[in-house]
Formats: sequence, C-alpha cells, structure tokens
Amino acid sequence: MARKPAWLEGLMAETFFASCGVHEGWSHKNEKNVFCLTCCVSLCPHCVPFHQSHPLLQVRRYMYQDVVLLSDLENFIDCSYIKPYTLNGAKVIYLNQRAQTSAVSSNVCRHCYKVIQEPFHFCSLSCKVDHLISQYADLSSIILYRLDDDDDGNSERKGSRRKGVPHRAPFY
Ligand SMILES: [Zn+2]
Ligand SMILES: [Zn+2]
Ligand SMILES: [Zn+2]
Repeated sequence: MARKPAWLEGLMAETFFASCGVHEGWSHKNEKNVFCLTCCVSLCPHCVPFHQSHPLLQVRRYMYQDVVLLSDLENFIDCSYIKPYTLNGAKVIYLNQRAQTSAVSSNVCRHCYKVIQEPFHFCSLSCKVDHLISQYADLSSIILYRLDDDDDGNSERKGSRRKGVPHRAPFY
C-alpha cells in the first residue's frame, strides 16, 4: 500500500493561516504560513528563525485556498500534470481540491472530477497524490524530498540516540 511521506501528509493536512499557538498575542503577524518539511509543522514568522536550516515551504492564499509556488514545490515533489494558476505573475499550485469553477471544458481532474483546463490531469497537489496512491504501489517516483534521519543517523551526533557506538573519550 502506498504511503505518503510524513512531510507530504502534514503539508496536505495542515491548517494554514491560523494563529500560532506558541506565539499567540506576540503580534498580529502570527499567522502560520510556512511549512517545515523536516519537522512537519506549520510555522508563523516568529517560529521561522528556529527552522532556518530546515527546508521550508511558504504557503500563500489565493481565492480563499492554500497555494504554494510551483517553483518552490517542485523542489520537493514532481508537479507535472497539476494545473498551475497565476498569482502576482508567479505560478502557484493548490494544495487541496478547489471549488468548482464555471470553466467550459470537458477535461476533468482525474481524482475529484472537477473541470480543469487541458492538458492537466489534477486540480491540486492532494488530488495527484491521492490518485497515485489509489493507482500505484508507491510514490517514490514523484517524491524528491526525503527525510534521511529515520535510520541510525550519520550526520548529526545526538548523544542519547547513539547507543553502543564507540566514541573517543578525550578526557582520559
Ligand atoms: Zn523544522
Ligand atoms: Zn509561532
Ligand atoms: Zn481534483
């Protein structure tokens, strides 16, 4: 059974533009509009400095829906066949299904059957991902970003996690 990577699951399930629980009352600029792919959480501008070294994805609002820049998203997942929209001159992708429009076309989203422009197959990121999950065994062909810290870890030294690993004892 196909599984979404945790970051993708989190990105699609997250509620953006809610106020940040950690920074409630700090200022009115505490809407969560950035997603951290390492921690799989949404961040407000006050949270962002703590995640500076993590891959981050900025989320924007377009027609009351959450969107991300195509140029940002395609660093992490293959966005082919997802219909992009233009926001302030930049191409954006809807994270989730969008409301039906009155577009005149017989081309529909392969997953939710909403009308979209040719030659696209999906109205949003979640429709593409959910469709692939219903069709194929895994998403590895489209996922470009993977967390590589779920094995024993080889880049960071976090003392307590590393049992039985010989290490130098400089004080002896
Ligand atoms: Zn983070
Ligand atoms: Zn915050
Ligand atoms: Zn759709």
